[in-house]
Amino acid sequence: MTDTARWIEGVLHGSGAVQRRAIAKAITLLESTRPDHRREADALLNALLPHSGRSLRLGLSGVPGVGKSTFIEALGLYLIERGHRVAVLAVDPSSSVSGGSILGDKTRMEKLSVHERAYIRPSPSGGTLGGVAAKTREAMLVCEAAGYDIVIVETVGVGQSETAVADMTDLFCVLQLPNAGDDLQAIKKGIMELADLVVINKADLDPDAATRAQAQITSALRLLGLHGRPDTAHHDATVWHPRVLQVSALAGEGLAAFWQAVEEYRQLQTANGRLAARRQRQARAWMWERIDSGLREAFAQHPVVRERLPALTDAVLQGREVPSVAARTLLQAFLAPGADTPPA
Ligand code: GDP
Repeated sequence: MTDTARWIEGVLHGSGAVQRRAIAKAITLLESTRPDHRREADALLNALLPHSGRSLRLGLSGVPGVGKSTFIEALGLYLIERGHRVAVLAVDPSSSVSGGSILGDKTRMEKLSVHERAYIRPSPSGGTLGGVAAKTREAMLVCEAAGYDIVIVETVGVGQSETAVADMTDLFCVLQLPNAGDDLQAIKKGIMELADLVVINKADLDPDAATRAQAQITSALRLLGLHGRPDTAHHDATVWHPRVLQVSALAGEGLAAFWQAVEEYRQLQTANGRLAARRQRQARAWMWERIDSGLREAFAQHPVVRERLPALTDAVLQGREVPSVAARTLLQAFLAPGADTPPA
């Protein structure tokens, strides 16, 4: 049996430490950039695909310190108590620069990380955000095939990585602090458009502020047209309208209401077909993102392109060449049949 066959077998049918090891090995294989590893990884993904897709994929975002790891730990343990298995993955936008990763770090979720019904994996590092996101999507398939029925994907509160996580999950949730209402401008400009649920964490610290923030964010969502008023004729009860909730992750308060909202979301969006449509949209976008990225890479490595790019770039910068004309020249060189060897 090859290693890859062993990891497939372990992911699908292993249990306990054997399965955990197989999952870790499988994800490490997916994260490798070696071409022979990539071929093995693709075979692994093909074998696991029929067993994936049955989880609820929950995206979670918020600025550092808002309480993401405290919330995930409390929610994860709450869900495990109710019979679920929980995987926690992360997309760390800084990991592509620094190579390091704080998000998804096991030490941040002490009890969850040692629980046999939980699997925590930090963000893949290196490469572009698109690359990091693609690896996280693949890791998600592995966790699903291993029987984790809740997959939480965590990221920090900066635009692009939040979009990436919203684009790979069924439901996107933004954590806010009780004073969030004081700076609604920042929120409106930011990522509220992506949020299916907004959670005001640390409500215990200042209950009045939390209630104020809840009201302010709720009306901001209404202004965005994302939060139809239940008492108006415009309200469509067959589609989900983003909600704002209060929790205290530290005290474990509000988790039941949070999970109830998630379940309602899932039921409603399954019944009206939007969840299936969202996953299809994501699958198509994922494929095209990888095609774009692969083409760019092939283009940058093409011998004729490499040879001509520096001079053409100079010419464009000095105004001697029209950028679009230079682009066409390079694309023609790239696409010309038999042009993958530089002229002698
Ligand atoms: P992260 O950076 O978003 O993962 O935030 P952490 O989960 O590490 O939390 C940052 C700090 O806030 C820690 O000291 C937590 O104990 C604290 N914290 C998290 N949730 C709550 C909460 O609901 N109430 C209070 N009072 N503190 C909290």
